[in-house]
Amino acid sequence: MVVAKAFIFEKQFNGFPQETDLKLVEEELPDIKDGEFLAEAVYLSVDPYMRAYAPRLPLGDTFVGGQIAKIIESKNPKYPVGKYVEARFGWRTHTISDGKRISEWSSPMILPDFGDLPISLGLGVLGMPGITAYFGVTDILLPEIGQTVIVTGAAGAVGSHVGQIAKLKGCKVIGVVGSDEKGKWLVDELGFDHFINYKTDDISKVLQEIAPQGIDRYFDNVGGEISSTIINNHMKNFGRIAVCGCISGYNEKSLPTATPVQGGLVTRQLRMQGLHCSRWEDRWMESILQNRKWVEDGRIKYRETITEGFENMFNAFTDMLRGGNFGKALVKV
Ligand code: NAP
Repeated sequence: MVVAKAFIFEKQFNGFPQETDLKLVEEELPDIKDGEFLAEAVYLSVDPYMRAYAPRLPLGDTFVGGQIAKIIESKNPKYPVGKYVEARFGWRTHTISDGKRISEWSSPMILPDFGDLPISLGLGVLGMPGITAYFGVTDILLPEIGQTVIVTGAAGAVGSHVGQIAKLKGCKVIGVVGSDEKGKWLVDELGFDHFINYKTDDISKVLQEIAPQGIDRYFDNVGGEISSTIINNHMKNFGRIAVCGCISGYNEKSLPTATPVQGGLVTRQLRMQGLHCSRWEDRWMESILQNRKWVEDGRIKYRETITEGFENMFNAFTDMLRGGNFGKALVKV
């Protein structure tokens, strides 16, 4: 008999998540039936969307999330023993699945061949954040050679990848981050042209110095006043904005406010479009293969911030929400 550990959503978050909002439990799992398989988590992801999604998650459910899991028993020929899946099983160590979709999430996906690259990348540069970065740039942001691109949340999983793709497209790239150490990583190692530390710099003042002609493309991961400043004061006419996330407001107790952007959109005749990675579900493999090639060729670099131990999921999650991660935040079981 297998005993699974799982974090149950015990209490709705009120502002920043508290440890008592989740409860670590043990569950005895039954034997698998025909058509099912049993998977053991190897890496689990901690992501900003978990905080944003929580108000829709019923109390008592396993807390939401993706993982890379090894199939250790199977009565389903599509999911053979020994293979790894990327699946939205939530925060749990062992899961019985029939391979079908879990609510709105995609069905467990057998990891494609990553060659010599680590399987943990299936949650980062070769997984959902990498897919989001790839399509967010190629299908929504549409940067052109010589243009100036700004990315917020730039040292995170999506942002660090977006900025590097924009560099591959021949753009000048500015990253907005929460520390100089992160900014130096972007410029010294990932090839960004400039960074702005939103906690210590006056964003407008720095942008007037480093992008006096304005910004052509803005990839928005954070929303809030940073976005209002960029959109209202620094975009060029006919610029494009890809809205990927708004983490600056996820932990607020009430609806966050920021200066309206409609004025900037109208006067600068901007195009602003939201995106969600699920839109490209039928093309995910295209992005995974392209990202793998870029990583293998050394054209896209990645970093992972790995916390050891399933019991430390909550700490890894809140550390990421506070900005403790460089690149993708993960937990290794
Ligand atoms: P991440 O950037 O790796 O981690 C979150 C980062 O957000 C932290 O490291 C922190 O970096 C920054 N942050 C936290 N509070 C902030 C605040 N008040 N203002 C500005 N930055 C803040 O996470 P990710 O997975 O790559 O996700 C980035 C964004 O994309 C999130 O908004 C997420 O919801 C969104 N997303 C959307 C999709 C989609 O399909 N639309 C898919 C994946 C992710 P600093 O140290 O720089 O503050």
